[in-house]
Amino acid sequence: MKRVAVLTSGGDAPGMNAAIRAVVRCGVAKGWEMYGIRNGYAGLISGNIRQMGTRDVGGIIQKGGTILGSARCEEFKTVEGRLKGIRSLRQLGIDALVVIGGNGSQTGSYHLNKEGFPVVGVASTIDNDLYGTEMTIGVDTALNIALEAIDRLKTTATSHQRAFLIEVMGRKCGYLALMAGIAGGAEYILLPEVETDPEEVAENLRLAYEHGKEHAIIVVAEGAKYNAEALTNYFDQHHDRLGFNIRATILGHVQRGGDPGAFDRLLASRFGCGAIEAIDREEYGVLVGLKENMVQTTPLEEVVSNNKQISMDMVRLARILD
Ligand code: ATP
Repeated sequence: MKRVAVLTSGGDAPGMNAAIRAVVRCGVAKGWEMYGIRNGYAGLISGNIRQMGTRDVGGIIQKGGTILGSARCEEFKTVEGRLKGIRSLRQLGIDALVVIGGNGSQTGSYHLNKEGFPVVGVASTIDNDLYGTEMTIGVDTALNIALEAIDRLKTTATSHQRAFLIEVMGRKCGYLALMAGIAGGAEYILLPEVETDPEEVAENLRLAYEHGKEHAIIVVAEGAKYNAEALTNYFDQHHDRLGFNIRATILGHVQRGGDPGAFDRLLASRFGCGAIEAIDREEYGVLVGLKENMVQTTPLEEVVSNNKQISMDMVRLARILD
């Protein structure tokens, strides 16, 4: 018999609930005692932990957000903070911890595991910036939300011959912007990973206008050097007219808020069970992710010491299709 705890950490992502449900139910199916920790690493430090059974995770697979709550916790970045967390777990006789979260959260998992507490990470962030997995829980739903917004803005843009700058989430990783841009038929996509000359964007807009296009859509990642605000300022300062009227829309947290789609529910269910299987094998210090469409583990050390690269094939595709 094992005692296993689960927490969600960092930015919430649609599908986290489906992952909690899978962790709890797969653990119970093995005859283990399962525990839920409130508010991520903050709840771990303060000992906000309670036992969870099959019924506690009923009716949540279709809900966005996380029933356990999430938090950012500076104290967990210190050894003292993490030792407090380990004490909370040991007091309840917990044998292993499942951490559902993104890059920062898995860095915390890595340290906790190295400092002596067995941890398995589950890849979950709308940024899709985790090394060791092709997809993370939440990104597909966030992408569909961004796409719906782009489609709607395109409709109004056409009516008024406007160009829309649409800023999507992604501080360091342009995955969402690139995929939303390609799927939304954007004229131009600006990413943190690719240096862009704003004059090139202006020229693109001008040509689109001269060719009689009724609208133009520029998708920018929030972490691009020229995000929506910087690009708007640049156009204001350097161009009297680009043809189109330009409007900027920042999608922001709207992208996190949706109910998970089928893909994220299934991915989260597979990852949650994958975490329990890893614990059953006593394979700790790993991230559960997707490789070649199979649930596979990657050592957390590898995850935290590598940066996931954006696909340059997709960048080239975007340029051909714009
Ligand atoms: P997302 O990218 O989707 O917002 P995330 O997991 O990357 O999710 P972060 O805010 O980066 O979100 O990290 C969440 C929490 O993980 C932090 O508040 C902190 O408690 C812990 N954490 C982050 N970095 C470290 C670190 N270097 N060492 C230990 N813990 C960390």
